[in-house]
Amino acid sequence: MTALLEVEDLRVAYGKIEAVKGISFSVEAGQAVTLIGTNGAGKTTTLRTLSGLLKPTSGKIVFDGKPLNGVPAHKIVSLGLAHSPEGRHIFPRLTIAENLQLGAFLRKDTAGIEADIRHVYDLFPILGERRKQASGTLSGGEQQMLAMGRALMSRPKLLMLDEPSMGLSPIMMQKIMATIRELRSQGTTILLVEQNAQAALSLADQAHVMEIGRISLSGSGHSLLHDESVRKAYLGED
Ligand code: ATP
Repeated sequence: MTALLEVEDLRVAYGKIEAVKGISFSVEAGQAVTLIGTNGAGKTTTLRTLSGLLKPTSGKIVFDGKPLNGVPAHKIVSLGLAHSPEGRHIFPRLTIAENLQLGAFLRKDTAGIEADIRHVYDLFPILGERRKQASGTLSGGEQQMLAMGRALMSRPKLLMLDEPSMGLSPIMMQKIMATIRELRSQGTTILLVEQNAQAALSLADQAHVMEIGRISLSGSGHSLLHDESVRKAYLGED
């Protein structure tokens, strides 16, 4: 079986600085895969490249059987790859409902869009309660929920989440992680970038540790969660 996403020897540079130095990994349909690693490891750069926002210097990206090299970002969304970016990037003056509508900007099936908005409100009831409110008034965690909801509105085959737990209280973080698990159990394929290694590894089928632009270790989420070097470096154990 070919994977939904295949990344082969991907390299990405900012001018002379190479941020991603030849990484390879794949995501099977239905799986949750995580990239963990410290600040500056190249995780965000990888997601931005997959979304078409950055151009790789070399390497291959194949999504759903199609090569993505040279495909513009809006076309990549329409192929079924959605990105909930780091720092959220919601539109603060628009209401929650309007932000969600924008996530469906490529779709014309009004009934399907309405059904998906209801699905987002089921996942995150607080967004439904506040749907007419300007999004800038939401808390950080609620804005994160909205960013995830907006990415879901394109009905993605693959949902990429960049540090969804960043800056959240422990309770809010648990809520977000529980929702990611729920989405996965509903069949959504997920590529999750996280600095919170414990949370990410405990929900991931496959995991990769990134260190200064390279994948230094790969395995099942469970095996990395119990790997001694991972526990020392990323889970704060002696
Ligand atoms: P973080 O969790 O801190 O976002 P990350 O693993 O996502 O880390 P990236 O943001 O991908 O890491 O950064 C990888 C490297 O590329 C870092 O050394 C960073 O300083 C550099 N970098 C990122 N964005 C740019 C940019 N726009 N211009 C130049 N260098 C950049």
